[in-house]
Amino acid sequence: MPVYSAGMIARATPAEFLRVADKVLEGKRISPDEGLYLLGHAPVHELAALADTVRDRKMHAAGRADLVTYVISRNINYTNVCITDCDFCSFYRRPLDKDAYTLDTEALRTKAQETLDLGGTEILLQGGHNPKLPLKYYADMLGLFRDMGLHNHAFSPSEIQHLAMFWKMTLPEVLRELKAAGLQSIPGGGAEILNDRVRGIICPKKGGADAWLEPMRQAHKLGIRTSATMMFGHVETFPERIEHLERLRALQDETGGFTAFICWTFQAEGNRMHDVHMAGAHDYLRTQAVARIYLDNFENCQASWVTQGGQVGQVSLRYGCNDMGSLMIEENVVRLAGAAFRMTEFEIRRLVREAGYQPQRRNFYYEQQKEPADLDATLESAATGDKRRVAIAG
Ligand code: SF4
Repeated sequence: MPVYSAGMIARATPAEFLRVADKVLEGKRISPDEGLYLLGHAPVHELAALADTVRDRKMHAAGRADLVTYVISRNINYTNVCITDCDFCSFYRRPLDKDAYTLDTEALRTKAQETLDLGGTEILLQGGHNPKLPLKYYADMLGLFRDMGLHNHAFSPSEIQHLAMFWKMTLPEVLRELKAAGLQSIPGGGAEILNDRVRGIICPKKGGADAWLEPMRQAHKLGIRTSATMMFGHVETFPERIEHLERLRALQDETGGFTAFICWTFQAEGNRMHDVHMAGAHDYLRTQAVARIYLDNFENCQASWVTQGGQVGQVSLRYGCNDMGSLMIEENVVRLAGAAFRMTEFEIRRLVREAGYQPQRRNFYYEQQKEPADLDATLESAATGDKRRVAIAG
């Protein structure tokens, strides 16, 4: 006798979930209240199935239904000097700290060359809010990477805000200068939770939600595309998570400039919020699934396996994710907060195949990159001791 029958599953599914699911399957947008219901009450397997259906629909439309993509990039944290003192940050140092640093041109060039040697196509540049660095430092850094043939995915909105304040320029002026110097896209880091109460607690000097949204709006207007992020599982409430998604969806309606959404759970090690209990895989997967359903105008969702591990990252491919983010050669920010997960390119490709998809290298714009015919064989033979190391999506 079967343990389950279709009838048993149908009877166990709440009517409210079926109503919201019907709406999603008809291609209609869900409301904040419906998002809140899904986050707090939807049965998890049905929620995953609904998110997977949305993912499937998006990827069919994009011509990538059978693929799970990833990009090879290097995260360069060009300076750890910062005056913004976010409570959750384990990375930054005050300007006079003895382990404060700013990378010089030779160090930047060496890292870029190593990236190219390992097949990388992109540099993710992120740093602290350093009050000493002039425009020329940023322009030279962007120009160096551009001239070496690398994509510049650089500077979170809060860094852009900081530069505007210190250089006494408007946001469009800063963005135009950086774009002329080689900036091609902006990572969505620093969004945390787009709610003024939450940001007032965990990163008061960064400003409220608009301090993140406005640089993104201005960047999109200038044709600079960006990703969007959410760091959750700290002081925020479920309604504040939904508010975050609502703000992203509204800006995407306005500009269409976001390429992807990435969420991850707060990491508590080495910072002033070390007493916060970190969210687990269940919360991560539920939130990811709701985000996939809620953000109906976002094409891509990246798995955050750096904070959750490769296996949970793999499972997230059935909770709405279509991309494994970045196989990064270097990462400091999340690692210093306690996320110690590492994967080689071989492992990423193996996990993707095991989940039923075909792995595929991509660039920032989700265009498929030509892969060497012997890539899998080469990676397998180099699986032990592979230098390629991982990190956060950006
Ligand atoms: S998160 Fe960024 S802005 Fe905040 S303290 Fe760390 S480096 Fe500075």
